Amino acid sequence: MIVVMQAGSEEQLIDAVLERLEEHNLRGHLVRGEERTVIGVVGAAIPPTLKEELAHFTGVQETLRITQPYKLVSRELRTQDTVVDVRGIKVGAGNCVVIAGPCSVESEEQIMKTAHAVREAGATMLRGGAFKPRSSPYTFRGMGETGLQLLAQAREETGLPIVTEVMTPNDVDLVTRYADVLQIGARNMQNYQLLEEVGRTGMPVLLKRGLSATIEEWLLSAEYVAAQGNPNVILCERGIRTFETATRNTLDLNAVALAKRRTHLPVLVDPSHGTGKWYLVPNLTLAGIAAGADGIIIEVHPDPDRARSDGAQSLSCENFAALMPKIVAVVNAVGRKM
Ligand code: PEP
Ligand code: MN
Repeated sequence: MIVVMQAGSEEQLIDAVLERLEEHNLRGHLVRGEERTVIGVVGAAIPPTLKEELAHFTGVQETLRITQPYKLVSRELRTQDTVVDVRGIKVGAGNCVVIAGPCSVESEEQIMKTAHAVREAGATMLRGGAFKPRSSPYTFRGMGETGLQLLAQAREETGLPIVTEVMTPNDVDLVTRYADVLQIGARNMQNYQLLEEVGRTGMPVLLKRGLSATIEEWLLSAEYVAAQGNPNVILCERGIRTFETATRNTLDLNAVALAKRRTHLPVLVDPSHGTGKWYLVPNLTLAGIAAGADGIIIEVHPDPDRARSDGAQSLSCENFAALMPKIVAVVNAVGRKM
């Protein structure tokens, strides 16, 4: 349910509503928009009388039911786009970001080379995994904290904010000390304890869509983070499992356009995992932006044929540099900005 307050309602009127919600064991999340202030009501059981109770409160304009199962991340609660601020870089509401970097941090030389190359080409953030979810336990699973230290060093040298994955609730403290954006991988989209833990940090979270997750399940996972009082969620479509085996995944651009209607959160596209093939990445990058994405996250490696993970889908630094002007052209063509 949302409680719409009359424009300019004083604090004490809002507090009175919040107190009544607490009496019912409900939580009120305040959303101050340009045009209206609303209170999102969440909790296990909203009493049927609540609407009538609140109708007596001064300042309450109306109460409305949110029809979607997710509430705080729903467009019904907040009509304006959410803008997530990452060290001064704005994500959402027409501001497009380009996050680039290797699948995994492999060595100092590799991450520094990549960081400088992508920054030179115009990327706005650096990605790189230190804790890697791998399908086989016998493959490279990341450098751990050493990898995080190298990412911090790359940020120091280039100024690029760091996007890196956290895989378990136990690692959240550690990763938070180095990262600017906490990535939740596709395999962990429904790890609810992890979602709540990153929710409690208040830090920007990049939430990838699960391999077989519906759009509704994806948004419900975002709701877990938001319900901890963290509104800084960036969604990422990274391809889903379908009957098609010619590509690693099927990049679901429907989901991008639809998610933008259903939620106020920013939505990114990952054409690297979405296709699994480096030579398909440029076209799907541009298509992703045209479909309405607020940015792109791309795997880039200085030596893709020697990459320890996801080399087949990684662009070389040169290919990434060649793609950047096309990204800028499409961003401008669809009326957004970098
Ligand atoms: C990655 O970004 O390298 C990664 C493991 O992504 P996903 O969780 O989407 O597979
Ligand atoms: Mn990868």
